[in-house]
Amino acid sequence: MVQLEDDGYGSSTSSDTIVLALHSDMSTSTLRPGDHDIGPGRLVLQPENCEMHTVLRNVDVHATRGLHVTAPIPEGTRISAEKPLLGVTKADYNYIGIYEAFEKLSAVDQDSFLRLKMVRYPEFKPQEKNIDNMILEYERNYSLANTDGERQKLASLEESLRIAIRMWRVNSRFQGNMNDLTTNSEPNSCTALPDDVPICGVFRTASVLSQSCVPNVCVAWNKGTKRLTVHATRAIYPGEELTASHISSNFYCKFAERAKALRERGILRCTCPACNINHVSFIHHEFHRTNIGVEVRNIIPLITRLQTPTSPQPSLAELAAAEVTVLKVIDSLVKAGCRDMELVWWRKYLAEELLLRLGKWTAAVAQARLAVKGTERCIGLDNPDIEPFRRIQKRAEEILRSYKADAKEFCSFT
Ligand SMILES: [Zn+2]
Repeated sequence: MVQLEDDGYGSSTSSDTIVLALHSDMSTSTLRPGDHDIGPGRLVLQPENCEMHTVLRNVDVHATRGLHVTAPIPEGTRISAEKPLLGVTKADYNYIGIYEAFEKLSAVDQDSFLRLKMVRYPEFKPQEKNIDNMILEYERNYSLANTDGERQKLASLEESLRIAIRMWRVNSRFQGNMNDLTTNSEPNSCTALPDDVPICGVFRTASVLSQSCVPNVCVAWNKGTKRLTVHATRAIYPGEELTASHISSNFYCKFAERAKALRERGILRCTCPACNINHVSFIHHEFHRTNIGVEVRNIIPLITRLQTPTSPQPSLAELAAAEVTVLKVIDSLVKAGCRDMELVWWRKYLAEELLLRLGKWTAAVAQARLAVKGTERCIGLDNPDIEPFRRIQKRAEEILRSYKADAKEFCSFT
């Protein structure tokens, strides 16, 4: 039987608890993948796995929930860089594979893993149904177990039930805290990756960060150093909590749409300023995020056309109209407090796809430079994923330089 349970973020309507009502020798117990069974969330740092550059000094690691800042953290600071506590390759990215990878961890790491606070609450309906059925079968057999053979069968059933629950807890916690380690959003789409490369992983620090749609840190995988980094995307002051967006980008839309999408992804409740209707900034966020949704919907047909080589290419007038739309998106993103890669991607798109095609080279250089600066802020200078942004900046600068040289030559000639 699956029961509704408070998720720790407030009221919840999701099923994340399995209640076992067993008899005498197996006292009634409640098992769940969330953090209620381990008490207040505490950051368990393993120095050999986690390079904490400033957090230990700046953050109260004994906070009961999340990471709270106790000294100023400047914008762009790398707060942490850590190896996965549990990383899973493409071949192992399934219910059994995740459990087997967990079983290979040391006892200390297994304990740390099971103590992680849940970020999302995924559902495993077939497995949960199976556990419910096993409980029913156990109860049926319990009342009938009068002989040694029957009692042996009961013990075997009990053992199977314990393993099934352990597998469910491990998988729930993995999916509930997992970070994608690829540039693609869906781990299953990474068909080109070698089998031994982890495609997703669970990390101690990232699992402690609370959800916000107006986050102050950016969490990113650095495939060069093989560390998950956490960078401050703006200056963070004492008393503030470090918050991250645990959903993919492209989430700048109205509160109702976002709440539904968050829930579909297992995030039961977000109490950030954009999601808390009593917050003083709620209307401000709602206004700008609604605008972003409208403008993005307006420009999607043109983006699709530019990405499809067989489609008729847009006219200069259409590109100019698209430039205005993207500038509106960027303006609203800035006003909605966006400091993460969403803003950076739009600046790159504007420079690469619109301004260069329109011959607005000075503006393209400016936007490309802002995109590189933003990427450095979000993922760090040493992350190889910064290269496409640097390439666009270089290309725009070269075109502008060549245009200026041509203009100079033309002027001297005339
Ligand atoms: Zn929110």
